[in-house]
Parts: sequence; structure tokens; C-alpha cells
Amino acid sequence: MLAHTDFRSRHLGAIGSCREEMLNAIGYASLDALADDAVPAGIRLDRELVLPDAKGEPEALAWLKAIFAQNKVLKSFIGQGYHGTHVPGVILRNILENPGWYTAYTPYQAEIAQGRLEALLNFQTMITGLTGLDVANASLLDEGTAAAEAMSLALAGAPKGKAIFVSDACHPQTVEVVRTRAEPLGIEVVTGDWRTFEPASCEGLFAVLVQYPATCGSVWDYSAFFEKAHAAKAVTIAAADLLALTLLKAPGEFGADICVGSSQRFGVPMGFGGPHAGFMACKDALKRKMPGRLIGVSVDSRGKPGYRLSLQTREQHIRRDKATSNICTAQVLLAVMASMYAVYHGPEGLKHIAREVNRKARVLAASLTAAGVEVPTEWFFDTITVKVPGRAGELCAAAVAKGFNLRSLGSDRVGVALDETTTDEDVATLCELFGAAVSGDAPAASWGGSLSRGSAFLIQKVFNSYHSETEMLRYLKRLESKDLALNESMIPLGSCTMKLNATSEMLPLSWPEVSSLHPFVPADQSKGYREMLSLLEGWLAEITGFAAVSLQPNAGSQGEYAGLLAIRRYHQSRGEEHRHVCLIPVSAHGTNPASAVMVGMKVVGVKCDEKGNIDVADLRARIDEHRDNLSALMVTYPSTHGVFEETIVEICEAIHEAGGQVYMDGANMNAQVGLTSPGRIGADVCHLNLHKTFCIPHGGGGPGVGPIGVAPQLVPFLPGHAELESKEGTVCSAPWGSASINTISWMYIAMMGAAGLKEATQMAILNANYMAKRLSGFFPVLYTAPNGLVAHECIIDVRPLSEKSGITVEDVAKRLMDYGFHAPTMSWPVAGTLMIEPTESESKGELDRFCDAMIAIHGEMMAVANGEADANDNLLKNAPHTVDSVCSDEWNHAYTREQAAFPLPYLRQHKFWPSVGRVDNVHGDRNLVCTCDTVEAYAAAASAE
Ligand SMILES: *Cc1c(COP(=O)(O)O)cnc(C)c1O
Repeated sequence: MLAHTDFRSRHLGAIGSCREEMLNAIGYASLDALADDAVPAGIRLDRELVLPDAKGEPEALAWLKAIFAQNKVLKSFIGQGYHGTHVPGVILRNILENPGWYTAYTPYQAEIAQGRLEALLNFQTMITGLTGLDVANASLLDEGTAAAEAMSLALAGAPKGKAIFVSDACHPQTVEVVRTRAEPLGIEVVTGDWRTFEPASCEGLFAVLVQYPATCGSVWDYSAFFEKAHAAKAVTIAAADLLALTLLKAPGEFGADICVGSSQRFGVPMGFGGPHAGFMACKDALKRKMPGRLIGVSVDSRGKPGYRLSLQTREQHIRRDKATSNICTAQVLLAVMASMYAVYHGPEGLKHIAREVNRKARVLAASLTAAGVEVPTEWFFDTITVKVPGRAGELCAAAVAKGFNLRSLGSDRVGVALDETTTDEDVATLCELFGAAVSGDAPAASWGGSLSRGSAFLIQKVFNSYHSETEMLRYLKRLESKDLALNESMIPLGSCTMKLNATSEMLPLSWPEVSSLHPFVPADQSKGYREMLSLLEGWLAEITGFAAVSLQPNAGSQGEYAGLLAIRRYHQSRGEEHRHVCLIPVSAHGTNPASAVMVGMKVVGVKCDEKGNIDVADLRARIDEHRDNLSALMVTYPSTHGVFEETIVEICEAIHEAGGQVYMDGANMNAQVGLTSPGRIGADVCHLNLHKTFCIPHGGGGPGVGPIGVAPQLVPFLPGHAELESKEGTVCSAPWGSASINTISWMYIAMMGAAGLKEATQMAILNANYMAKRLSGFFPVLYTAPNGLVAHECIIDVRPLSEKSGITVEDVAKRLMDYGFHAPTMSWPVAGTLMIEPTESESKGELDRFCDAMIAIHGEMMAVANGEADANDNLLKNAPHTVDSVCSDEWNHAYTREQAAFPLPYLRQHKFWPSVGRVDNVHGDRNLVCTCDTVEAYAAAASAE
């Protein structure tokens, strides 16, 4: 019997007698016996994991607090893409600290995701408005990767050349990420001073990238340069600062085709590097190739506006080997926060904040100049460069003594970036540091008149309505209540592992020593962070059976990229750069081939047999065919079909024997932890999704962390960073990616310990098999091991009944909403099926409730199949049923309102109502509307139709 102080008893859904009942139902005497049967003997770990003893919640928090006490929280004037910001309390508490927002899934099921879809549409509208471009997506991973994605977008649109010019006044980390991404694609990165670069004389130029304002603060007018670039048929890309854009001419107005950047300073804490929402906006002509997700407006079954993901920008549709991007998990929660910052402040509030920051910068510059200190930044918004010949080091040290971090730029110059949190006292202290006194009169403007913003932005109603806290609070609540999250019911998404995101795991995120650190502070200020990160790296290395781990990749897709890049660099280091073939089973997740293409590999498909396993004969044939050029195999384990393949060891050996490396997609790690491991199985590198297996919440579609673990031979090729010992192969802006949210996984492992983690895996397998068993009498379970067991998820086949009834798997997904559930993963990896992953956190009661709903739906499908219910006008085709449809005076259906809304008794206790009827995807894609200004106009047009 577990003590109540044991976190395991909180994390695991079923303990005690419920567990016995479930074991009995599937015919096992114990969890160990089940695990012994489920996991092939040849790959089982022969020892327990070596991890610290499990801590209770208060003890783990105290331990982490002590570690973080080593951090020093100074004011950072470093800039370089990261700025201090005041997170409005109403946003902090009601979004970042609110499971209603942070435990939601990616909004694929639009009807129960209208809240975050609206917030994301606001984000897109905000970005298009501020950048002056036509379309913006619903977030990218950070500024550096957004710039790299822009490069790929430009290349896809203009496939004539292979050279990109990158201004040397871009943020250094952005330049590094672009360099990493360019190399495997054979793109030449030309860097230099944009003022002397001649686009016409650069052969093969397909794009130019500049920073606005530049990394050292200069606000330059790029319009003539962009004209020259356009004349040379190059795509123009500006990386821009959102707060500056409230006062400065929009990039779209001086000729930018694409604009990228970070929305961090719109109320998202720096968090030692992340997570924050990167953004991308582009001209209309490029929108169909834009990476990431795009929210659009469509109509629902009753003609009301309904939001949804448009152009099928969803993981299942990532364009595999034709892909130019592999983005899947993005930064939804942070995009929501940034958009709400704009909603709360409105255009005038934002301008006020920007003017204040600019005023202080002007005062600082004028005071320094008056004192004879040289400020070479002619035009600036919030950042200036100060000339201090030979004294930069001394000045930075003196600043630290006063509690300030400046940016050191060689020995002769320092950078000072002001932000929303800078006070007049801070400005006085800064002046003092440079031996100046605050001078009263600052010049009126700090940039040329032609660069002042003339156009309005955020003119839409939503940005001009909720400026009191009461109104804001209710707006947030209204949106939140439209969305189904884990605080409502289980979200049994196969492959996505929607488990408990415990409150104790989330609490440290609000500690200033976690949230307030700039990613480039001097190392002695981030000791606590470094210790936490290195402990976590060690624990993950132990769990995966690998030699080392990098936490830099900020999503699974980025982990895939980093891992394949490591393989590429390994082959190169051995003089085998010709190895470029990547074998990928046809059942793989779309990100796998997309990542392979991005590192310059050629994707070769491997068949699966009718049981869903890799067809070993076909694999051997492909190996023989490509033996000399074989680079890697990408394999998911347990397979995307939810089965522990017996042949996995043999498969890994065959790849190694041919000189290849094995990349394991670790999305299904929840079936492995403590029972087996990628290292044990024979993989060379594997990514983890900390936002799946290790409890980071999905945030409604991000953030994520996608660390990679590697075998010894790949250690030298882990991602580097200017801030790390190894500098090469930077895959995202910050050295440890989304550093702050690693505290969540740290807490999870600290509280579970080795035995708890293993038990969690066993419970995940028990829960999946219990559900498979209960449902198998109604829907066939598609793939099982020879002993009849599934791993941690199961695919149920809806197709036989679909054929008889005409009811599609999508109808079933929508009908589940009427029962208060989010559908399992739909039509992936097999069309027409549902993939259920219950996780260890759900109780038997919840599993049964879900099974009851599925069984009731089976009955409803049978009624259609038998002709008892109409083929078109039935409970499933018309699902989901909204409260206004059920309460309407008009009711012309052959079934009752009660059957529509309250098909099972538990719904009378509590009912979650979808806020719109079924959203029309085809209509939305044909009439693409991706900003919110036209919503009213759109609704008016729709009702006039
Ligand atoms: C989730 C997932 C990915 C992609 O990971 P992201 O974190 O969304 O980028 C890759 N492969 C599989 C099998 C997945 O389930």
C-alpha cells in the first residue's frame, strides 16, 4: 500500500483493488507478469534504473528550490532577441498557471477547441498587422528556427539559386541556426555588411535576411536594399522586433516578402531561453508553402463562423519526402499568451510601452553623448552600442556589481538594450556606470522620419475591447470554457501521451529564478540552471541507455533533425559523406521523412507486413540495394501500430552490419521506460518528447522539448552553441532550447524514482490492454503481438462498421464530443481507425466511462447499419450537437433531443458542450480567411448566402 505522501499514488490512476480488477480482466496475476509477456525477453532491461530515490512533492520542490538558489537574478540589458517583460498577472494566473489552457491538445478537433483557435487567430492577426504582411502562421519554435524556415520557404518559392545573404547585423544565434540548416541542403551562406553587399553580383542568390532593428540596435532603412534584392530575383526576409514595430515602419511596407521573429517580449518570461513563440508572416503568394499551422475561419453546420486548422496543416499531412519543413509541435501556449498581451494592452497600450522604452533609450544615449561617451548607434529603438575603448570587460563587471548585465561586444564596445521593465532609476544607474549624469532633454526622435510607422495596426475589435481586468478575465474564461482539456476528461491520443501534468511539476515555472534569466547571462549566474539541466541529462541518459543527452532541440521534430544531423556529421568525420540513404518504414510519422530530407538524405520506404510490423525481408532487400550509401534507419519503437516488434534487435544489427546508424523515434517511450531502452535495443540515437512521456503539458499544441540521447560514437556531434563548449551544429536559438520547462520533467523523475517510472510504464501497458480487451467485442483491435497483447496503445478498427453503416471514423470522433470526450488519434497511422492511448494516469472509472461511450456509439452505428436509423439524419452524421441546436424550437430529426445530448446517464451529472456544430473544412480551405478582422464581415457574408 502506497503512502499518501508518495507521488506515485497521485500520478497513477489505478492503484489497489481497481488494478487487480483490470489485471483479472485481461488474465494476469501481476503487473510484472504482464510486462514479462508484453515486452520481448530479448530486449528487457536486466537491471533497475539507477536514479535518486523518489521524493514526495514538498521534498522535490525543496530540492529544486535549493538548486535554483544558486542562480543570480540580475536585470539583463543584453537584448539579442530576449528582453525583460511584465507578464500581466491576469495572463500569468489564467493562462500560464491554468490547466484549462495548458493541458489542452493541438486543436485538430476544432469543435472543442474554439477558444485556443480564436486566441491563435488573434495571434495571426496581430502578426500580420504589426509586420504589414498578408498571412501569418500560428507560431514557430523560436526566432532562429523561424529564420531558417524562412530560408527554406524562399528556396521552395525560388528554386533557381543556392546562395542566401545573411546580414552580419543579425542576432548571432540566428546566423548559426541558419548556417546549420543551410549546409546539408547545399546552400551557401554569404554574410557581410548589407550596406556594401550587391545582390546583383552574387551568383545564385535566392534570398536576403536582415535584422530590424539590427542586433546592436541600429534602425536601418532597408527599402533600397530590398529593391535591389528583388531586382536580382531574391526573396527578402526581415527578422523583426514586435515592440519596435509598433513605432517603426512595417517590414511589409518596405518590401519584405517574409518577416520572422520572436514574440517573447509580449508578456512571456525569458526562462533562460524559452519557450517562446517564434512567428512568421509572408506575402499571399507564399502562403500555401508556409511551414507550421495556419488557423482559418470557416462555417459550422448551422452557418455560424467556426475556426479550424486550414490547408490540412497537421502532422499527418506533413509532406513527407517532399517536405521543406518538419514542424509539428509548435508554441501554442506562448502564442496565446503573446496574443493576449496585445488584447489586454491594445494598440495604444503597446505604443505607450514602446514609446516609454524608446524615451528611456533616448535619455540614456543623450546623457552618454553629453558626457563625451561615444554612442555610435545613429538610429535606434531600445538598444544602443556604447564605445568604451579597452574597457568593455571592466564595465560589464562593474555593471554586474550593480545588479545589471550588459552585452559585451569585444573589448571596445558594450550593448545596452532597454525594455518594458527598465525604470528611470535604472537609466540613472546605467548613466552612472559610464560616468555620465542623466541629462534632461532627450532628442525627440531616434530614427529618420521615413522609418516612422504611418499605418494603423490591431484595429480589430478584439484588440480594443478587453482593457479592464474584469473584461479580460471574462474573455479568457469564455475562451477557456470552449475548450476540452485534461481537466475535463481523458484525452486518449495514441502516440501523443496525454498523461497527468502534475501541479507540483508546474509550480517552479513561476519562480523568478526559473523564469527571469536571460539565456546569455554569465555562467556564474546560471549555476542552478546548469545543475538542474545536467542532472536531467544524466537521468535521461540512464533511462535511454545512452552515453549523453542534449536538451537543445525544442520539439520532437527538432530532435529528429539534430539526431540525423549527428549521424550525417559522424559519417562525414569518417570520410563517408556519400552515405545519404535513410530507410523509413511507410508507417512512420510524417516528421521522420521530413527531417531526413532537411538533412539532405534520400528517403527510401520500407514496407510493413499485414500485422503492422516492419517487413524484415523488404528491409533486407532495401539494405542490399543501398548498402554502400546507407546512412540510417528511422524506426519508431514500439511501432506506430502500438506493438513491441520481436525483430527489432535483428533489424538494428542488419543496419549496423551495413555501416548504417539506427535512429529511434522515441515518441512511444512511455512503453519503454524502466522495462527496456533504446540503447538496450541497439539504437544509436533517439529523441524523447518530454511533452509526451515526461509530463510537460501539450499547451494546446506546444511548447515541447525534444532532447536526443546518443551512443558514444555520436557524442561529438551533439548540437553545439556559442554558449556551450562545442560550437558546431546549433539547431535552435538558445543553448538549452526551452530551458525553463525542463523543470517539469525534472520534478516528474525526481518524484517517481526508478520504481515509480517502471510502474508507470507497466500501468500504461495494463490500461491499454484493458481497454483493448473491453472494446474488442465491438471494434476489432487491429494489431497485437502473437500473444494477443498490445503495448501502451491500441488501434481499433472502425472500417468494417463504416462499410455497413456509412458512418465514418470522423463521424465517430465528432459524436464522442457529445459524450464529453476528445477523440483518440484519428486515421493515423491507418486510415479509418482510432488509436487509443490511455496512459498510466487515468483511473479505471475513466477508462470504463470512455469504453461505455465507445460501446454506446457502436450501438448507434449498428442502428444505422440495420436501417433502424436514417442513413443521413442520425446521431453521428449530425454530431456534435450544440446547446443551441438542442434547445432550438425547430427540431426535425428522427431522434430525440435527449438522445442527442444525454445518451448516457453520467452526462446528466456534468455535460461539456461543444461550442460550434461541425466545422466545414472544404469551405474553409476554398475561402481562406486567416485573420480576425474579417470575421464579422465573413459571418455577414455567410448569412447572406
Ligand atoms: C509527436 C510525434 C513526433 C513529433 O514530435 P513533435 O514534438 O510534435 O515535433 C514524431 N514522431 C511521432 C511518432 C510522434 O508521435
